[in-house]
Amino acid sequence: MYTIHTDPLHRITYATDASAYREVPQGVAFPENEQDIVYLIETAREHKTHLIPRAGGTSIAGQVVGNGIVVDISKHFKKILEINKEERWARVQPGVVLDELNIALESYGLFFSPETSTSNRCCIGGMFGNNSCGSHSLIYGSTRHHVLEARGVLCDGSIEVFKEYSIRELEARFGSQFWENEAHTLIQSIYTQLIRWALDEKTVRLIEENYPDKTLRRRSCGYAIDEVIEDLHNDAKPLEERSINLCKVLAGSEGTLAFITEIKVDLDPLPPKEKMVVCAHCDTLQKSFLGNLVALKYRPTAVELMDRNILELTKQNVEQQKNRFFVQGDPAAILIIELRGDTREEIDAVADQLEQALIENEEQLVYACSRVYGSEISKVWSLRKAGLGLLTGMKGDAKPIGVIEDTAVAPEKLPDYMSDFAQMLENLGLSCVYHAHISTGELHLRPIINIKEAEGKRKFREVAYQTALLVKKYKGSLSGEHGDGRLRGEFIQLMYGDEVYALMQDLKKCWDPHQVFNLHKIVDTLPMDSMLRFEVGQKYAIEKELKSSALRQAQGPKTYYNWKAAFDECKVEGATGAKTQLHALMCSIEQCNGAGDCRKSNLIGGTLCPAFKVSGDEIKATRARANVLREILTRGWGSEAFSNCETQFATMQNILKSKELAEVLDSCLACKGCRSECPSNVDMTRLRSEILQQKYDIDGMPLRSFAVSRMATVEQLGHLVWPIYNLFASWKFSSNIIKRIIKFTTERDIPTLSRVTMRKTVQHECRKHHDHSKGKVYLFADEFTNFQEAELGLTFAKLLIHLGYEVEIPRHVESGRAAISKGNLKLAKKFALKNVNLLKDKISEQMPLVGIEPSCILSFRDEYPDLVPAELRQQAKELGCNALLFDEFIMREVTAGHITSNDFKADAVEIWLHGHCHQKALVGTEKTVQALRLLTGAKLHVIPSGCCGMAGSFGYEKEHYQTSLAIGEMVLFPTIRKAVSNAERIVPCIVSAPGTSCRQQILDGTGVHAVHPIEILYRWMK
Ligand SMILES: Cc1cc2nc3c(=O)[nH]c(=O)nc-3n(C[C@H](O)[C@H](O)[C@H](O)COP(=O)(O)OP(=O)(O)OC[C@H]3O[C@@H](n4cnc5c(N)ncnc54)[C@H](O)[C@@H]3O)c2cc1C
Ligand code: SF4
Ligand code: SF4
Repeated sequence: MYTIHTDPLHRITYATDASAYREVPQGVAFPENEQDIVYLIETAREHKTHLIPRAGGTSIAGQVVGNGIVVDISKHFKKILEINKEERWARVQPGVVLDELNIALESYGLFFSPETSTSNRCCIGGMFGNNSCGSHSLIYGSTRHHVLEARGVLCDGSIEVFKEYSIRELEARFGSQFWENEAHTLIQSIYTQLIRWALDEKTVRLIEENYPDKTLRRRSCGYAIDEVIEDLHNDAKPLEERSINLCKVLAGSEGTLAFITEIKVDLDPLPPKEKMVVCAHCDTLQKSFLGNLVALKYRPTAVELMDRNILELTKQNVEQQKNRFFVQGDPAAILIIELRGDTREEIDAVADQLEQALIENEEQLVYACSRVYGSEISKVWSLRKAGLGLLTGMKGDAKPIGVIEDTAVAPEKLPDYMSDFAQMLENLGLSCVYHAHISTGELHLRPIINIKEAEGKRKFREVAYQTALLVKKYKGSLSGEHGDGRLRGEFIQLMYGDEVYALMQDLKKCWDPHQVFNLHKIVDTLPMDSMLRFEVGQKYAIEKELKSSALRQAQGPKTYYNWKAAFDECKVEGATGAKTQLHALMCSIEQCNGAGDCRKSNLIGGTLCPAFKVSGDEIKATRARANVLREILTRGWGSEAFSNCETQFATMQNILKSKELAEVLDSCLACKGCRSECPSNVDMTRLRSEILQQKYDIDGMPLRSFAVSRMATVEQLGHLVWPIYNLFASWKFSSNIIKRIIKFTTERDIPTLSRVTMRKTVQHECRKHHDHSKGKVYLFADEFTNFQEAELGLTFAKLLIHLGYEVEIPRHVESGRAAISKGNLKLAKKFALKNVNLLKDKISEQMPLVGIEPSCILSFRDEYPDLVPAELRQQAKELGCNALLFDEFIMREVTAGHITSNDFKADAVEIWLHGHCHQKALVGTEKTVQALRLLTGAKLHVIPSGCCGMAGSFGYEKEHYQTSLAIGEMVLFPTIRKAVSNAERIVPCIVSAPGTSCRQQILDGTGVHAVHPIEILYRWMK
């Protein structure tokens, strides 16, 4: 049985999608079956409200934003119901994610071909709703071309199957010539309306004259009346044999006509394995438009564009930096031209001709080409796909705004259309970002506008209006794939004329006389510049709250991190920066554009976002956290979401005390998955700790957070009496008391202390050795290794000494990692300052600081520059560059020729590696893999896990224990169990993890003792 959630948390979370719009819905429902949807429709009719069907919520035009009840089908409508290999179709529920469907289809040699850039989280229902398509629309078309059948509920609660019916079949159902009589049922009136239009010559002509160019592959503007009636006015057939499939008009109807519960799609054979992309570099944009026309002659399967602005943004994204390997020089634009064939020779021959035509052309359209083959191609596509998300990560209030991002004209008209467009932009004083599907004449054009200001808002409307006129002039489509929503609906009348628009309004009235489905989308939309995320003149509510608390404190920073520095240093053209620290903090939250990469499931891989992956709950995704932070810190208790709040008292408190903020921050593991995998670089770990500290300032710090952030001090004191400490920590009775006091689970053991600290034992070892031919290395005795795993620290020192290095542990304090994670930033700032001051003059490129525990050593690089006073920022950055992870150091020395695989034994071993999530987010695990490959006898498997689920103290916390284990159970634990259970193995099998918490989690979850990669290298040392 469904519930309609009307609490502020749900209402805020579902107030946006991936568009610029925000409207707080009345409630949110998660139906579990078709009957629930029927009930919801009845409820909506009864209460005179409307339902907003929602899948992945990645729409860009505000399709799933509204004041009705949002009905999220992505949680329970996730089944693949049937796959028919012979007939090449699949029947699915609408909440099935595109990539997940394609993973299931792979073994059948088939796939669902309209692939969107959001394929790893958008759902088939959403694709159907928006008539989505992707880079290969040139050969595969859009979703409309692939939906064979759908099942759904109409506004009167009746269930209907929509598929191809001939007039004969319809007559059998409704009676002969039924369209000439009065309709008795809703479905009859729907068919009647369309058949009447199709048989009326005047209406057919009206449609033909006013709809976009038939040759356009991409058309998602307005209702596709032309497509649905196409066969009905086919005079070549006898009337009763003509047919109609309502799926044609349902595709792209944006949830405004019916609620879909099942979809049957046709499938394509998997593309041939042999592929290549030619990345053609152009020195002007205009040349790329012409280059596209040349490329199209060579029968490419896709041609996509990336302009300089996008390429520039990819430099600033940790994940995408790795995918820029093919870029040569500083191109104004790159055309990515995909060629397919049966053999590589065949493709190479075409590529030779293509490159010749592009480079040796009179106009020298292209100055360089890179060819990319095999698995590397996915990196090129990943860079291209990240484009739209990266754009909204631009620092400051001005953003490459989605307003005309989806126009399509015939490719041969593109050069002229683009030159008119450039002129228009110049007149408006705007610059623009250009990218995407150039082969089909569709470019994602994003002018950079600050819509928070009145002038920007005016331009937002003006550019939309003038572009609509231009698209009409070139007989294009205002939307090629993203749909109309509330953004473009206003211009449909202009594009299609009054009469066709009236037909569209009639169509909506006929299907939805009770006004139940997604109102004010496509037709009768609200003004396109209303209900924006940020209103002109809006003041941040948090500013008021912080001012009063800062006054109370008489001193102290308004923010604990230096948020503004990254904005000041952003070099992207058009970036407006931030005025104050607080403004920079808010802009950092607003960087979330709602694109939904944080909704990837564990089948897709990556780390982002474990809390969502394990629950499938939108309110646990990074996007929800950003939405709740933005809404509450901007509008405070004034948000409509609190309009139902029962206690007046609640809304009189400081907004930082809101339970909604506490709830979304509580489910975050601070794993940094978002730091690198979110294309907009939303860094929730950092935002979370800032907000927690601000909250502690007014509310005090909970005992557990205090205890965890002071853990190293406790251990340092405990070390003075280590046998007693260990007894207390390991004796069930006493340890359970401690755990209960600090609200830890009693299911896990508290770590015990090493007898001697790492610092002492390493110092002792170092005194014994004097051969330092390869230089000096400073070891960082992080707080975990120093007290709990001194043996590991010693092992690393021995490894380095054996390899010929002088080792020293310099004076330093703890890294502050635990304090950062628990939001104790006042303390973390002290540690950062001390460490920078103690180490800045000692550490250099020649004598680096090397760490064992990834999360600790990476604090130097990631957090310290923004935690120390501004005057120390540069020095902190330099220190960060020379603070290396063990594997970074080893591989640096391998490159310098100081370490080789000859230093290690070649004995066979099988290693299963789980990387630390901070390491994955900030530097990746490649260097660990390379370091372990120095063991020539090693067979290495990288476990495709994200965060292990422990995440520092998260997995110890009573209320998070089960979630923590469930995260481990997604990929990590089953992979390890399988790996170690192979009884026939002859070579040793070792599970390895560089993170302390990860090793503990693996032990608790599987009983397997994982080791640090350093221990393996040491054991294999010659
Ligand atoms: C970064 C980025 C890149 C993108 N790239 C592309 C691209 O390459 N190609 C492309 O085509 N689009 C693209 N989009 C737009 C968007 O991702 C697609 O339109 C996607 O298919 C929407 O799917 P969704 O599951 O998120 O649907 P939602 O946004 O949840 O819904 C889409 C529409 O379908 C309706 N709907 C959903 N479920 C049902 C149902 N059960 N019954 C009736 N109606 C329903 C909704 O009401 C809504 O109108 C991109 C968006 C972003 C943010
Ligand atoms: S947090 Fe990042 S990945 Fe998630 S929706 Fe926002 S921008 Fe996208
Ligand atoms: S830090 Fe990890 S858990 Fe928190 S929002 Fe980012 S990905 Fe999700």
